[in-house]
Formats: sequence, structure tokens, C-alpha cells
Amino acid sequence: MLNRIADHGIDRSRVSKNAVAVIDKLRSGGFDAYLVGGCVRDLLLGVVPKDFDVATDATPEDVRRVFPRVRLVGRRFRIVHVRMGREVLEVSTFRRTVDDEDDAQPQHLSEEGMILRDNVYGSIDEDAFRRDFTVNALYYDPVEDVVLDYCNGMADIDERTLRLIGDPERRFREDPVRILRALRFAAKLDLRLHPDTHDAIAPMCEMLNAIPAARLFDEFTKMFMTGHGEQAFELLCQHELVDILFPLPPDGDVLPRLALASTDRRIKEDKPVTPGFLLAAFLWPEYVERADLALAEANGSRQRAAAAQEELARSVLAAQQSTLAIPRRHSWFVRDVWRLQPMLDRRTSRNVNKLLAQPRFRAAYDFLLLRIEAGEAEEELGQWWTEVQTQDGQELTDRLPREQPRRRRRRRRKPSRAIDNPEFANGGPPPQ
Ligand code: ATP
Ligand code: MG
Repeated sequence: MLNRIADHGIDRSRVSKNAVAVIDKLRSGGFDAYLVGGCVRDLLLGVVPKDFDVATDATPEDVRRVFPRVRLVGRRFRIVHVRMGREVLEVSTFRRTVDDEDDAQPQHLSEEGMILRDNVYGSIDEDAFRRDFTVNALYYDPVEDVVLDYCNGMADIDERTLRLIGDPERRFREDPVRILRALRFAAKLDLRLHPDTHDAIAPMCEMLNAIPAARLFDEFTKMFMTGHGEQAFELLCQHELVDILFPLPPDGDVLPRLALASTDRRIKEDKPVTPGFLLAAFLWPEYVERADLALAEANGSRQRAAAAQEELARSVLAAQQSTLAIPRRHSWFVRDVWRLQPMLDRRTSRNVNKLLAQPRFRAAYDFLLLRIEAGEAEEELGQWWTEVQTQDGQELTDRLPREQPRRRRRRRRKPSRAIDNPEFANGGPPPQ
């Protein structure tokens, strides 16, 4: 069953010295320890690992004895964080899955077959088989420079195939988040899903509805905020899984795709990114769709329109909480970006100066540029705001009227769609 592979092609210079030090120290303490999971997979595929995880037969208490200053963490299972300089290594004890046949521990599976608790220690081969994909179940011994392969992961590495360990439907049922993980790894590493793994997604995907909103939010950020969001979204669409996360109306995918492309680009350029920006784009189509109604009730009053938009934003975000637990700071970000969209269309000197001083101006402006790319707003508006922010921008603001004439606004006919309403968002020149 166990394959010891010496000819694996891992470039040792890419292995974290700190991780090797942790493994050395555990071994001097009489324990067994290896690198495992994502880092081994990435090293084998020639990708730079983002972090290094260690698996060991030492219990968390044992690890604490070897490294006195560690942190025990973990909601679902206990893991030890060992800090070495700036790097934090995750050290976890070999575990096994407790299954239905294990009468002694019946509380470990829900009625639907989902894993509830997973904190039973096991041997290294049991630890390999409880992992999700064969390529995630490889162990690297940096001292002997060999890879330990219990699940035929090396063959799948060679064929760039992502395959669930064991019976795919059962493994997805145990933990439906593995469906999203499958798409995420396929997108990130350009792997092909094994046909059996691929075919088990459709029958099991309904189970994703039972995943706690906090865990889905974590997975959302991993899917879309690590540089391969556009491709991950493409795979979600192919598997008709987008609505597990968002209520996208038909054809509502244009803005989300543009936002993902922009986020991927920024990550490549090492620029800061925030989930708030993506959330603003993902939920915007739903917001716009419902804005018609909200604005009709405002009856042309700018104040009432603003209040209706605030209320609508609150309601769209609140409805989303039951699927994705969006932390409060991010939902405030979304509300700010949305609130500023109609203001970007009001080019009076007072309004423009006010907007430029807003902490969220830059995000709102970036969002406007996306909407322009999506064909929702006039290019001229984007160019104008780009120019206002340059050295000569003051000249542009000086030429603006102090306030738009109010009387004309009242006589405006009610537009047919909210998106065409300049009160709500820029949809071209105001109707005469
Ligand atoms: P990434 O590069 O995104 O961190 P990773 O493979 O390291 O990828 P993690 O979520 O950090 O992913 O998990 C570490 C390892 O733990 C995985 O490689 C896998 O072996 C195991 N694992 C994580 N989540 C699950 C799960 N839901 N079911 C089974 N095994 C899992
Ligand atoms: Mg990892």
C-alpha cells in the first residue's frame, strides 16, 4: 500500500527551513513528523507553497512539551501553531475518520452522513485516508528526501488529476465543502477533475445548503481571494453552483466576472484586495433588480431615494447572511460603495469635493469603472473622475456648478428601469 518515492522532483531549496527545524526537533523528541498536504502537493507541481503544514504522531500536549511557547487553536479539531521567527507552522496530530461502522462513536456522523467531529487520533496511513484528495495526502520527509504515498497520489500528480480518496459520493456527503475545494484546487492548480469525482458533484451539491454560513464565507474568500477567482467562478458556473453562494439573476454574471478578473490582477501585482469589493459586485445585480421598486416609492425625492437605497442595501445584505456570514466591516464596505454610486453622477463642486474626501471614494470609483466596463455607465463619467484625481483636477471642479438646479429634477419622468435613473446610478444623460 505504501509507496516510498525517492525520485519525486521536489526542489529542496523551496522547502521552509523553519518547517525542517520543527520536524527535526519533534524527531529528536522521539516522534514521527512530516510535511503534508497543500505544501507537498504544491512543491510537486512546481508551485511555491503559501504555507507549510506538519503532521506528527505527537499529540498537541506532546508538541507543547517540545515547543513550550505554542498556541493551541482550531474550532473543528485541535492544531498547534508553532512560531519560528515570522513564520507560523501548523502542526497537527495524525487523525482518522470515525465512520458509520464505528459503533463506539455514533455521534460523529449526522443523519445525512456529514462528519460532525473529527478529533480521533490515528496512525499515519489512517491520517492519509481521511484527507480529501489523493494529491493532498502525500507526506514529505525532508531528512530522507522521500515522499510517502498511501493513496496513489503521485500518479495523480503526474497526470494532473484531482481525485477524491475513496467513494466520491460518500466523501462529498461527509463534508460537502469538499465540492468547493475541488473546484478551487482545479482552478488554482489547473488540474482536471477525475471523472468519478466530477460526476459525484451534481448529486451531492444540494448538501452545500447545510453548511454553516461562517464556513462558507471562509471558503468564499479562499476561492476568490487567492488569485484564481475568475477560473474558480467559471467552474462554479459550469457546475451550476453559483446560487449556492449568491442570488445572481440571469445574465447577472458580468459584473462579478469583471470584479474577479480585477481582484486576480491586483493579487498578481501585490496590491491590496478586500472581500468587500467582490461582495459589492456579486450582490449588485440583485440590488439593482430590486431598486426599481424602492425608487418608485421614493417618488422623485432625492432624500427619500437615498433612504430607500440604504434600506434596500441593508435588506440585500441581511438576506445574504443566512448563506454567507459576512463580517460586519465588509458589509459596511459594500453599503458605502453602493451608496456612493449615484453620488458619482452628481457633478457639482460641493458634491465632488465631498466625495473626494470620503474614505471609500477610491473603492467607489474603482466600482464605477467596473460598471462602465460592464456597459452600465458612460465612459465619459469614468474619464472625468480619473482626471479629477490628477494634478489638474482642481481645474475641473472649479468649472462645475455649485449645485444642480433642483426644479428640473422634479419634472423628470419616472424612468422605466432603476439602472437608467441618474438618481440611482449613472445611466447616461438625464432624460429631458
Ligand atoms: P491551500 O494551498 O489552499 O492551503 P491546502 O491543501 O493546504 O491548500 P488546507 O485547507 O490548508 O488546504 O488543508 C490542509 C490539508 O488538510 C489538505 O491538504 C487536506 O489534506 C486536509 N484537509 C483540509 N480540509 C479537508 C476536508 N474538508 N476534508 C478532508 N481533508 C481536508
Ligand atoms: Mg494549507
